[in-house]
Amino acid sequence: MQVNWRWIHAARNSSAVLSAACERDGFPLQPVDSPADDVTCYSLNSINAAEYRDEIASADCLTIVGGPHATACPREGAGYADYVVVGEGEYTLPRLLGDLRDGGEGRIPGVMTGSFYEPVKSSVRLDAYPAFSEMKGYVEITRGCPYACGYCQTPQIFGHCMRHRSTDEVARFANRHEQSRFVSPNAFAYGSDGCHPRWDKIEHLFLKCRHQVFFGTFPSEVRPEFVCNESLSLVTQYCANTKLHFGAQSGSDAVLEKLHRGHTVADVHHAIDLCREYSLVPVVDFIVGLPFESDNDQRATLDCIHEVSRNGIIHVHRFIPLPGTPLAGTVARELLPEAEKELGKLALRGRLTGSWNDPAVRFFKKL
Ligand code: SF4
Repeated sequence: MQVNWRWIHAARNSSAVLSAACERDGFPLQPVDSPADDVTCYSLNSINAAEYRDEIASADCLTIVGGPHATACPREGAGYADYVVVGEGEYTLPRLLGDLRDGGEGRIPGVMTGSFYEPVKSSVRLDAYPAFSEMKGYVEITRGCPYACGYCQTPQIFGHCMRHRSTDEVARFANRHEQSRFVSPNAFAYGSDGCHPRWDKIEHLFLKCRHQVFFGTFPSEVRPEFVCNESLSLVTQYCANTKLHFGAQSGSDAVLEKLHRGHTVADVHHAIDLCREYSLVPVVDFIVGLPFESDNDQRATLDCIHEVSRNGIIHVHRFIPLPGTPLAGTVARELLPEAEKELGKLALRGRLTGSWNDPAVRFFKKL
């Protein structure tokens, strides 16, 4: 049975993870630009799903869709694809392929069809699968998040319980590369329950890594209240990064509360000050256009952005109500003319990237 992987740039991480898992079970995934042969798999996000819907519906082969959008809207996916992998794919996708090869109907927990669905009963244990370190030395160290930020799909896909790759396994993959970057919803939560940091475990990990490590910076980030003397001492002692990436999201405590972010604006200011003290450049994410943002909330966010811009870099994204999140179905509010103007000026000065007009930029393009 020939199984193909529809190459979609935005899904390259999923491609790396699932190719390794499927190859191990005897299904090497062949990258293709259109559906072909026996089976073609797709990983879709909520921005690109509509682009591939007709292609999938008219494919002459069996089609399997997964990814954030399929997980958030599995019934919609089952309307145009033969099978929808809901949630993590490392265990479910090879199982589904094995069943199809053996003549089954794909009635596998974690798979939805037009007439069947049974939720998966367990989560993936990270150590059981290879990290996708072939891609620029990226090693996924953590999955899941105990927070429930209103705009975020991560807990819906990976659950609220943090799971970690063991230090031995992280080091085994990291030590294959001259430089390693770690993937986690909050790198400073490594080894912990996600709320109570375990600096001892992070130091233990660093001591096992023999080459350069970038921690708490792209493609990972940290939460602002985890930025403290302990975390920054570890980064400056053991890591190669000169930047630290964290999410502020808003300069208004009222908005942060409605988002259920679990931190305050004061935590953001404290994190910015500490970065300055430790000579790290803060790279800070903001979301503009949140549905419940008042004019004054938006101005407070602009003030916070200005503060970061003095010695840091800002990433601004326009709010997009992703399916499966608490804010699904809401509508982004307009930006104040002064906000448009100020953000534009900062972008021209090279202090700000992202897009406050086009949400798709968050997923597809780098400015
Ligand atoms: S934005 Fe970060 S902290 Fe919030 S739910 Fe998503 S992964 Fe967790």
